[in-house]
Amino acid sequence: MEKRKMLQIFICCSCFLAVIYGIARLDKGHRRYREEDAAAMASKEQDNIVFAQQRIMYLTFEDGPGPYTQDILNILDDYHIKATFFVTGLNNDYTHLLKTVSAEGHMLGLHSFSHDCTEIYSSVEAYFTDLGKISSLVKKETNTVSDFIRFPLNTDNTESLSYDTAIIAKLHEHCENLGYTYYDWNVDSGDEDPDLTADEIYENVIQKVQDKDKVMLRMHDGNTQKATKEALPRILKELVRQGWEFRIIDDSTETFHQNLD
Ligand SMILES: [Zn+2]
Repeated sequence: MEKRKMLQIFICCSCFLAVIYGIARLDKGHRRYREEDAAAMASKEQDNIVFAQQRIMYLTFEDGPGPYTQDILNILDDYHIKATFFVTGLNNDYTHLLKTVSAEGHMLGLHSFSHDCTEIYSSVEAYFTDLGKISSLVKKETNTVSDFIRFPLNTDNTESLSYDTAIIAKLHEHCENLGYTYYDWNVDSGDEDPDLTADEIYENVIQKVQDKDKVMLRMHDGNTQKATKEALPRILKELVRQGWEFRIIDDSTETFHQNLD
């Protein structure tokens, strides 16, 4: 009899402890879910803060049209994004793409006909002779005239410049007096260097834009920019995810001038 009573007490105590343990676990579980919900909400609010802030991106390509320009146009079309192309007369085989670029709603700007910096920066006359040639080519192919300029600049720090930057300062003044507007950039993808991989170009862009809300991004679609074409879909996918608004250059666009000193 005594033994049975003890067993009953033991069973009662066990049940009681089991119930207390169950309640404790349930509460802990709820608390965990509450904490996870709060963390998810905080993260969502953070995203909304980032996305609510207007971030404006001007994609610019230099040195084309070239062998990768059509692919670049196709990728831009996939994302319904327009860009600005500062064009050259470097590759006759792709001159017909000037018309395509313009017809697809992208902006055409003038880079230079020859991209031979030593020659075009040898004098003011030499610069405007070259500019006249690329301007005429654009006019002939697209029946449009562009007042937007991107000066060819060698920004590779490992090489010394083959021209005196003082003439560029002089050309800035002449161009503005003639009604042109020139646009440099505030983020360089670095793709001018043909040794850069698509991964490196992607990392460059994403890392350099992260603390900015207005970007003029310098890329290239010349003869050696296969890696740019390869990196572009990933770059655009990430920039779209980050909520950037893409614009082409127009008369109201900020110019992002480089300091030549
Ligand atoms: Zn260039």
